[in-house]
Amino acid sequence: MRRKLIAGNWKMNLGYRDSEKLAKDISAKTGKKELDSLDILLCPPYVSLGIVNKAIKDTGIKLGAQNLFFENDGAYTGEISASMLKSVGCEYVISGHSERRTIFHETNADVNKKVRKTIESGMKPILCVGESLIEREDDIFEGIIEKQLTEGLEGITAELMKGVVIAYEPVWAIGTGLNATPEQASSVHGFIGNVIQNLYDKNTAEELVIIYGGSVNTKNAEEILSACGIDGALIGGASLKADDFTYIVKTAANIKQLVK
Ligand code: PEP
Repeated sequence: MRRKLIAGNWKMNLGYRDSEKLAKDISAKTGKKELDSLDILLCPPYVSLGIVNKAIKDTGIKLGAQNLFFENDGAYTGEISASMLKSVGCEYVISGHSERRTIFHETNADVNKKVRKTIESGMKPILCVGESLIEREDDIFEGIIEKQLTEGLEGITAELMKGVVIAYEPVWAIGTGLNATPEQASSVHGFIGNVIQNLYDKNTAEELVIIYGGSVNTKNAEEILSACGIDGALIGGASLKADDFTYIVKTAANIKQLVK
């Protein structure tokens, strides 16, 4: 059964102690109702994973990483492996975030290796897909997303898809304050479901958790999270404030049904 997921992507923000404080504040403001009805995930920078893990211990809030390198170990200066993330308590790893694709030139093939390594290591990948503004304006966005999904999920069986989360994150909506309308997001989530059904089967598509990311905040969360096919959110800016993040978590918990 699909469960809602609200994930905070802290990006390259907050030092060690500020990360600890934010994690503690979020857990203090999060109640049983929220934890029973959805998965809540914090993705701090690498250096704060350990302290955040400690701060959320036994709360039910989960820990995730923003990236990994797909090799097991070796001479890869500056990189972090899946087993390192697992050992510090990570259950999820974000792959293919648009900032990694654009700033660090990650290709669909790179993203695929990361997604596979995440699954192989017993964690859940959050595979981010989404179009740029030009791709939307040129009306080629569905093709772009289909390619990101097809190549990003290459070699992953229907059985393994049970642990995969897809995040639809239109690049033009990330950190810009310009969110996709609920209709735009619903339509792409439906399209992603169709692609997954074609790649796998109806059941895999129905069970797939597809979350939306792109300027979700306290003002638009209810409208976006109530829309058809939206199983949760990946939140950047608003996840850095305990009040805003927990407000969105509570909003999600109050939305009864997940509709596809
Ligand atoms: C993100 O980076 O995943 C994101 C959705 O950022 P923001 O909420 O700030 O747009």
